[in-house]
Amino acid sequence: MFQTFLIKYGEIAIKGKNRHLFEDALVSQICHALKRAEGEFHVYKEQGRIYIDCAPGYDYDETVEALQKVFGIVGICPVMKCADEGIDKLGDDVVEFLNQIYERHDQSFKVFTRRPKKSFPLDSMEVNAELGGRILDAFPDMRVDVHEPQLQLYVELRDEIFIYSKVIPGPGGMPVGTNGRAMLLLSGGIDSPVAGYMISKRGVSLDAVYFHAPPYTSERAKQKVIDLAKIISAYTGPIRLHVVNFTDIQLYIYDKCPHDELTIIMRRYMMRIAEYFAGETHAQALVTGESLGQVASQTMQSLAATNEVCTIPVFRPLIGFDKQEIVDIAQKIDTFETSILPFEDCCTIFVAKHPVTKPNVNVIKCSEKKLDEKIDELMRVALETTEVIRIE
Ligand code: ATP
Ligand code: MG
Repeated sequence: MFQTFLIKYGEIAIKGKNRHLFEDALVSQICHALKRAEGEFHVYKEQGRIYIDCAPGYDYDETVEALQKVFGIVGICPVMKCADEGIDKLGDDVVEFLNQIYERHDQSFKVFTRRPKKSFPLDSMEVNAELGGRILDAFPDMRVDVHEPQLQLYVELRDEIFIYSKVIPGPGGMPVGTNGRAMLLLSGGIDSPVAGYMISKRGVSLDAVYFHAPPYTSERAKQKVIDLAKIISAYTGPIRLHVVNFTDIQLYIYDKCPHDELTIIMRRYMMRIAEYFAGETHAQALVTGESLGQVASQTMQSLAATNEVCTIPVFRPLIGFDKQEIVDIAQKIDTFETSILPFEDCCTIFVAKHPVTKPNVNVIKCSEKKLDEKIDELMRVALETTEVIRIE
């Protein structure tokens, strides 16, 4: 019964002169997302609103599901369109509409009419009153409440008449592409996909880097990361996933450096490599799934030691989150089930029994000196052999 969706967007509407840029980005993200839904769609801006016309036969559920992943959308209103055949017919249509979309008819309500089509013979106040009366006649248990109605009925008088009432919540945030680009360090764990989702929600386009350590980490571990990238790309848009062969660097660190410093040194090399690829993809920041105090490598001192090698900002959207809060988001965005599949992770394979929790940067730098002989060459090979996978 719905031929059109009206898209409500909140935060982006306050952006003043930049408003049209935000709206254009939102339209483009909507078009991209709708490729995942069955049907033909026409997305357009009109008078500070975004509408989606759907050709007959489209899949309603798939469409709503796709739209619920477009950042910047606050509400999705399914609209019934009917021909303008006068106020009497409109009254019938409105009653029929309420009959169809609500099971109960005992709520308080308010009618909101807009009249873009100025030739409509009644003004919007008159239409509100007329339709209110018709609704009360049809549903005697309903009542008007103009202050806090339980149900809002919107009527837009255009060449055709638009009727809508339900607002399906969108994800909020800002349209991807309006706030720069970042490079996500994406592992197969629970946290980093959530971190990617969070930063993307603020309008940031994403690429990703995954450190793979064959044969210590299997093809299936890599596939898991690809699958996670696919799931979050429904929100973030296309991702270029860089799969770095990290084995030789890890083995070399293992060979040369004190084992209680392995994780920190390894993570410093991850950051250096991630920053290199950030340069290649014009990303302005790195993003990780770190959360303060979660593990030994995420103490204040460890984060500082890892951070020290980076020259661009490192964003850690989960820094203040408890594990359960992260898990809740992972479940909401559908990455959780994939994240908990039991494949090995390159960080856990080379991990020491008692890693340092308060590393001293100077001590770490000193240990890294022991890598001087071969590390440049190993880095060069790692960068050159990196595989880039396009995730849509
Ligand atoms: P996650 O759930 O994201 O794996 P975690 O709690 O297991 O996080 P760590 O393994 O210490 O934490 O990793 C911290 C962060 O470092 C991750 O969130 C991720 O951003 C990055 N990271 C760790 N391992 C890798 C890897 N193999 N490839 C890419 N990034 C990684
Ligand atoms: Mg991990």
